[in-house]
Amino acid sequence: CGIVGYVGGQSALDVVIAGLKRLEYRGYDSAGVAVLADGGLAAAKKAGKLANLGKLLDERPLPAGSTGIGHTRWATHGGPTDANAHPHLDNSGRVAVVHNGIIENFAALRVELAERGHELTSETDTEVVAHLLAENFSSCGDLAEAMRQVCRRLEGAFTLVAVHADEPDTVVGARRNSPLVVGVGEGENFLASDVAAFIAHTREAIELGQDQVVELKRDQVTVTDFDGAPAETRAYHVDWDA
Ligand code: GLU
Repeated sequence: CGIVGYVGGQSALDVVIAGLKRLEYRGYDSAGVAVLADGGLAAAKKAGKLANLGKLLDERPLPAGSTGIGHTRWATHGGPTDANAHPHLDNSGRVAVVHNGIIENFAALRVELAERGHELTSETDTEVVAHLLAENFSSCGDLAEAMRQVCRRLEGAFTLVAVHADEPDTVVGARRNSPLVVGVGEGENFLASDVAAFIAHTREAIELGQDQVVELKRDQVTVTDFDGAPAETRAYHVDWDA
């Protein structure tokens, strides 16, 4: 339902949680975050309000990191449980993904992944993306390219945002029939399903077009289509107050 991604010099957790709070008005049933820190990936997720996630983070703090993603979920596939909350991780625990929308062909992809030995631990349509990203990353070694390969296999509507512990200081996003906006900062960049998530930090935005993938680093925003060709985007200034 609500998506936030961050890479920069601030605490990713603080930026992501504040962004998710700005998206709370949209309604949701669970929330979660993942940060890249100390060469690994740490995640926390919880059914219920952001306050429940906040309580979990107080009890079990995540290591500090400056790359992170977060999600507020409105369940479509699988009930509103802790296990079904996003982010979803692959079995190595090194890839995390958050998703808005519905992956229509998830059932066939689940069967295929199970046949290749993946263990799926949720009832969501989303989890297949984490496993597919991990597989594709291990063959191509590039998260944006792995995302393009995965998107070419997906049917339905999706905004996806992902991180991989083997590619620190990078957040990758993709969209089809569901919104995704980049917030361009100085030495930091943001991704969100809605500009409200980042206008406290920057008002320079880039709206992604249909079937595009974005790779975000601290000082760089690269947008392509699902085949890797450079893509047209729309840059604009957000001048309304939120
Ligand atoms: N279909 C996904 C799920 O049920 C994403 C729902 C959403 O857009 O929040 O987990």
